[in-house]
Amino acid sequence: MITDPVTGDHYRVLDVHQHLNVGEGTTPALPIEPRLQLLDRFGIDQAVLLPPSGAFGAEAVSADDLNAMTAAVVADHPGRFACGVAHVDLAAGERAGRQVIGRAVTELGLRGVAWHHRFQGAYLDHPLMPALLRQCADLGVPALIHVISESSLEAVWRLARLLAQCPETTVVALDGFSSSDQAGEMIDLADRYGNLYCDLGAMISVSGWTIRRFIDTVSADRLLFGTDLYMTPRTWHAPAPLYEVIHLDLPPAAKAGILAGNALRLFGIPGH
Ligand SMILES: [Zn+2]
Repeated sequence: MITDPVTGDHYRVLDVHQHLNVGEGTTPALPIEPRLQLLDRFGIDQAVLLPPSGAFGAEAVSADDLNAMTAAVVADHPGRFACGVAHVDLAAGERAGRQVIGRAVTELGLRGVAWHHRFQGAYLDHPLMPALLRQCADLGVPALIHVISESSLEAVWRLARLLAQCPETTVVALDGFSSSDQAGEMIDLADRYGNLYCDLGAMISVSGWTIRRFIDTVSADRLLFGTDLYMTPRTWHAPAPLYEVIHLDLPPAAKAGILAGNALRLFGIPGH
């Protein structure tokens, strides 16, 4: 929980964007406790856990193994990780990719599929993406897609193409506010496509103002608190977007939605 220092209101906090660490093989090389201590330090109650998204080199492991590792960490800490999402290797082809996603959702209980195309060496609008996104829609889970600024592989215009092709799929754009210009683009995109949500991962400090503009233009209901946390190395020392949201002049219901409620609905977290 975090407390608004002005109003005294308390808010539950769910971070939709935390990665297991690159290079951990099939079992986390790092203990999970330091991550949980970090969450406690900043009042982050829970996180959605993504598999590692880096290149694995000589220690390459299968997407199935990465997904099983993610599901195991979630199962071991049910109070702290609200759910996990899956990794899929585009290079494996459509049939194998669809099987991986199917197993991850129906057998492992993962509640979404994540892509970080620049780490996969593929364009965001890779030819297999529409089919895999439609599978996500069929399974009732969101597709989480990184659009980190300055990566042409993950350019926003490529995401726009996918959104136009897959209107039935709920898409969460990760790291969309990672530059001020791109944050402006994300507002326009979310205004055009009602199936697009945005997280606040990797948000640069001067993009804080775009949160208000997103809400005024689109809706507070399609913003999600996320931090893009890796632990090797740690990608931040304090979760800046949390403080941008808590200090914004917003109705309490909007803050509660951005910080946890929207994500609980989006991922279908049981009991909420
Ligand atoms: Zn990420």
